[in-house]
Amino acid sequence: MELFNPIAKAQEIRSFVERDGLRKYYRVPRAGSWYGGIATADCCGCNLKCAFCWINKPRDNPEKIGHFYTPEQIFNKITACAARHGYRLLRLSGNEPTLCKQHLLELLGLVDKTNYLFILETNGTLLDVDYVTALAQFKNLHVRVSLKGTNAEEHSLLTGAIGDSFENIIDAIALLKKHKIRFNVAAMLSFSPDKNVMLLKERLRTIASSVGEDFEEEYVFLYPHVVRRLKRAGLEPFRAYSSQGIPQELK
Ligand code: SF4
Repeated sequence: MELFNPIAKAQEIRSFVERDGLRKYYRVPRAGSWYGGIATADCCGCNLKCAFCWINKPRDNPEKIGHFYTPEQIFNKITACAARHGYRLLRLSGNEPTLCKQHLLELLGLVDKTNYLFILETNGTLLDVDYVTALAQFKNLHVRVSLKGTNAEEHSLLTGAIGDSFENIIDAIALLKKHKIRFNVAAMLSFSPDKNVMLLKERLRTIASSVGEDFEEEYVFLYPHVVRRLKRAGLEPFRAYSSQGIPQELK
């Protein structure tokens, strides 16, 4: 498999999902029980190609699905959804929220004028110094970085991206800490031997002990289309959830 650079990939995907400050979304809004209740807008386009990803068309063919929205339109829709359900949390999900930087920053600016907290779920690949510095100005923000695997080799195997990308994400986590942004780290561990999980946790603790304490373990959900994707990639999980959400030890 030829590995790709996720920063170059982001540029390519943006040409389908970004237009004059507008971003493409495929589901707006969505009420969900994650985090105890959160209003969500599902955006189109991601710069990784995770073999365990549950998203089909909005990731693989973002040019063929969705509609463009301004940051204000998304803000109005997710805050109306949150108000209806009594939620205090907002997020973008469904693909990679950081892909369209200006759109996201404008949305965060609107959220900052409220009492809502925005959970920025990201794969972390685009969080360079400039991006993290820009995020540091927002007070109603919590960043949740989700690592794909525990090291550069697993990251490439799972996402198709070059191994350097994993190291950039670790650097981004250190930047979040340095800029005193609220954050936590999650990792997809379905394909990682225990020894590698332990090494990752040790590495993260060198950035901050709190990173280890707030560490979230993620495991793949074995929906039928995800199982087909994994088969095509020749990947077998050690641990997973069934499509009904029941934990499974598989090896
Ligand atoms: S980073 Fe998330 S949205 Fe993107 S391919 Fe991976 S699992 Fe799918």
